[in-house]
Amino acid sequence: MLTIEEAQAVVLAAVATLPSERIPLLQALGCVLAEPVVAPIQLPPFDNSAMDGFAVVAEDTRGATPESPSRLEVLEDVPAGATPERQVQPGTATRVMTGAPISPGADAVVIVEHTRPGLSGTVEVFVPAAPGDNIRPAGEDIAAGQAALSPGQVLGPGELGLISALGQTHVTAIRRPRVAIITTGSELVEPGQELRPGTIYNSNRAAIAASVLRSGWEVAHCLHVADDESALEQALRGCADADLLLTTGGVSVGEHDFVKTVLARIGDIKFWRVLMKPGKPVAFGTVFGRPLFGLPGNPVSALVTFEMLVAPALRRMSGRQSCLPLTVQARLLSDVRHRPGRREYRQSIASYSDGDLVVEPSEKRGSAMLTSTVGANSLLVIPEESTGLHAGERVTVVLLGHGGGEL
Ligand code: AMP
Ligand code: MG
Repeated sequence: MLTIEEAQAVVLAAVATLPSERIPLLQALGCVLAEPVVAPIQLPPFDNSAMDGFAVVAEDTRGATPESPSRLEVLEDVPAGATPERQVQPGTATRVMTGAPISPGADAVVIVEHTRPGLSGTVEVFVPAAPGDNIRPAGEDIAAGQAALSPGQVLGPGELGLISALGQTHVTAIRRPRVAIITTGSELVEPGQELRPGTIYNSNRAAIAASVLRSGWEVAHCLHVADDESALEQALRGCADADLLLTTGGVSVGEHDFVKTVLARIGDIKFWRVLMKPGKPVAFGTVFGRPLFGLPGNPVSALVTFEMLVAPALRRMSGRQSCLPLTVQARLLSDVRHRPGRREYRQSIASYSDGDLVVEPSEKRGSAMLTSTVGANSLLVIPEESTGLHAGERVTVVLLGHGGGEL
């Protein structure tokens, strides 16, 4: 049986980065840039005022005090978006708003708080200004022709703002992976329908779809099939256009656990068990040249295996550099028991306390107990050989819902 690290390595070696495409900016959030963005213009495009105030010749304000202010003639108002018409000469000023172009001849902006209105169209400046004060020079942020963003950059709000500031409407970025989810199990009923004896509601559909959506990936298909080989095969064929397929249930060693059988027949199995708890029965392989994960049916196991194995694959497909789950060190708040054997991932809540990252594991450890996941933002890692961890110990936790190794 593979360790989790071995299984992750098998997965990452088997999946490739998806092709790139031209994507409208607002659809590119979280995508990875495939081509550099070169600035077609400089930013800012022109010298402009950083403050509301008066564009002046700095020399005119030398030695200005409230008792002996510099009195300047105000030539015109220059709001943001306007073009100055007058040349500032010694003894004159223009009233400028934040973002307004600097009038020719001026070399500083005096903030409005350092002025007061004077008589007959003048302004009194009572604090001296130095050349360049409150002026944002053209090109100070980026020069025209310079690379603004490089391939590999993950596009967040700031990057999308920068691309907009450069006047671009689209980016060339790695396509968002499209995921097919097939839940299996004859005992399952969709929420909203009547629960007959012996049946339970399908919770993996929502939980796994949410796991996909949380990181910005797409759900291409969401299907449910009974425990029936041909129904599963048909469902898989119907999902062949997805970039990654996953099933839940039917992967342990029970008689109705037919996911492996189907996968072996129409695809290729790379592993079907991993030394982890929960989530030992988890299959990985390829069908139709695409990665397929057979996640366990137990709801908590399905969530944990998604985070530890599927999410890394999706990050690799999305073009991310670091694909493995993000782990940090924290101080454990309560004792946990453990039977040596498999590495355990316990649902837990990490938080800051007195400047220290602390972690509170869920008391519930059952792989079917969804209440253990309520509020969980992390998984406490309990080493395979451990006989238990004690409050106060430094422990490793996996942070959930992050962009992998990148914070
Ligand atoms: P299996 O791996 O199919 O044997 O399923 C293991 C356990 O998980 C069984 O108790 C199933 O009833 C349960 N289970 C499987 N699929 C789901 C699902 N989609 N939603 C909720 N529970 C499930
Ligand atoms: Mg089943």
